[in-house]
Amino acid sequence: EEYDGPLLQTDGLVKRFGGLTATDDVNLDIEQGERVSLIGPNGAGKSTIINLITRRLDPTEGDIRFKGQSILGLNPHEVVQRGMSKSFQQASIFPTLTVRQNARVAALAAEHGSFRFNFFRHRDRFSEVEGVARETLEAVGLWDQRESPAEDLPYGDKRRLEIGIALAADPDMLLMDEPTAGMSPEETHATVDLIEEVKEERGLTFLLVEHDMEIVFRVSDRIVVLNRGSVIAEGPPEEIRENPDVQDAYLGG
Ligand code: ADP
Ligand code: MG
Repeated sequence: EEYDGPLLQTDGLVKRFGGLTATDDVNLDIEQGERVSLIGPNGAGKSTIINLITRRLDPTEGDIRFKGQSILGLNPHEVVQRGMSKSFQQASIFPTLTVRQNARVAALAAEHGSFRFNFFRHRDRFSEVEGVARETLEAVGLWDQRESPAEDLPYGDKRRLEIGIALAADPDMLLMDEPTAGMSPEETHATVDLIEEVKEERGLTFLLVEHDMEIVFRVSDRIVVLNRGSVIAEGPPEEIRENPDVQDAYLGG
């Protein structure tokens, strides 16, 4: 916790799938409190980077340091315990549990790094878990729907629940891979508001993958542009907006 360098660093990150190089020598430094967006055309390697950082994939080459320490020896649960959380695109939701039960599970899992938590040996922690679950659902605007089975939520609310589940871990860093994909304009708007609120209230560091440039320009301190696995530009939104290489990549050049 005393570490005061970049929160996250990737060092020469390479991922090959057979003959295909999905990420090629990616070096990212993300400072504490910094909001970074990763953009690039389809197949650029954005999701691969998120999956490498969250330890769902092993890099072919390179290192990833979180709070100054390599995380390559850790599994995904251990990375969450160190303070990194990902909004998982539905996979984290238990469909038949209620919204509130989902938030409880998330609060427990964050603390223990697994879903095999023994309620009876930790009864004193129960009210704390309830508190986290409630705070989380209020933060993502789902408290009124707390007794609904998660599977009954409209699509946009499900995506908000995913972000809530990631936030229940009280992470130092949040990773989001296209959180607004498939949402209606209203749902997108609500999700962007949520990201902005989180940004302001928690001062959370985040790495966001998002294809909607309006959202990217609005919520980012810095934008990293990826094309064919390599970083082709990075800088503050106003600089990236003007960058001709970025425009070429987006026009399929
Ligand atoms: P993005 O998220 O930017 O659209 P991805 O990171 O998903 O891109 O993919 C980058 C490249 O790696 C693509 O060419 C994709 O087909 C390939 N790829 C991604 N995951 C796998 C995998 N598990 N096996 C083989 N190829 C993969
Ligand atoms: Mg992707």
